[in-house]
Amino acid sequence: MSEIRATTTPPTNSPDAPELVAAMLRDADQAGASDIHLQSIPGAVTLQWRLDGVLHDRGRIEMPVAERVLGRIKYLARLRTYQETLPQDGRIPAEDAGLDCDLRVSTYPTVTGEKIVLRIFRNSSAVSLAELGLPLPTLNALQSAIAQPTGLILLTGPAGSGKSTTVHAALHELAQAGGRHLVTVEDPVETLVPGVMQTEVNEARGLTYPAAVRHLLRQDPQAIVIGEIRDAETANLAVQAALTGHLVLSTLHAGSCHGVLDRLRLLVPDPFSVAASLTLVLNQRLVRRTCTRCQGDGCSHCVRTGFHGRIPIVEHLVFTDPDRPALRQGITPPLSPDSTLAAAASRAVAAGLTTSAEILRVLGK
Ligand SMILES: [Zn+2]
Repeated sequence: MSEIRATTTPPTNSPDAPELVAAMLRDADQAGASDIHLQSIPGAVTLQWRLDGVLHDRGRIEMPVAERVLGRIKYLARLRTYQETLPQDGRIPAEDAGLDCDLRVSTYPTVTGEKIVLRIFRNSSAVSLAELGLPLPTLNALQSAIAQPTGLILLTGPAGSGKSTTVHAALHELAQAGGRHLVTVEDPVETLVPGVMQTEVNEARGLTYPAAVRHLLRQDPQAIVIGEIRDAETANLAVQAALTGHLVLSTLHAGSCHGVLDRLRLLVPDPFSVAASLTLVLNQRLVRRTCTRCQGDGCSHCVRTGFHGRIPIVEHLVFTDPDRPALRQGITPPLSPDSTLAAAASRAVAAGLTTSAEILRVLGK
């Protein structure tokens, strides 16, 4: 770190860059952007924000000011300001950014020049399950599954589909109910839940998911959150934990509720254990919510996008005792028609919460 500091010098002749960068960060933060993208092109740098998961053009900065802006960001992130041909990663502390939270900075050389992406790390705290905006049948299924003393609950959905927000909301509800020792192993911990023992994997030190789960099960937990099941060892531990008196919540990469079953059966060869442990599977997407102030016409509140915030579109599959004999034979029960992604999407559009175009963008067809 000291070597990096020693070779970093403030960009010269840039009286305008600090003010420009400060205003740029403040504007993006106030608009609720999660990321700021700066792409060098011949003669300029283009500016984009990621708002509710979607990139929006926010104009361009001409050279030579643009160069000083990139230099200023790299200076604040303690990166080598002259280094443009190799990727660099850094962080701007909240006080230097003039925001309430830190920024992660990533630079990468492209064929038209340097690209810089800044991620805004808002300090988030867990919301309650009721605040998530889940479809009512899904909310009921999830609340009833976490009220059980044991069982395996699995969530799926692509990156950025809000799975971990749902898991943390469930954890928040368990913590509020009290009486159970709640532990997590995550990679990394992004949301703090009061009353929960939250831990992180540390692959470099050998604390992998399976190693962490094995140790945490000796900490006398009643409920355990495993950030992600990536391998057979973790999958088998999760199933065994659920069969030995623990409530287990985790995520698994698959495209659908049935996909979760297929993947779990590949990872856990014993169909009896899978059939006996699973209580609920959720498959989640996030769609942008129509701005309530302008009803989608575009206003200053939604930065003219017509959308503000996001809501989950979820399908779920509940497993009860009558389902288990079929599960043991590798048969997955069908989703009830009112609990599919398509049904949840139609209800959200009918309620005016989002648009058909937004559903098409996220779910495809
Ligand atoms: Zn609006």
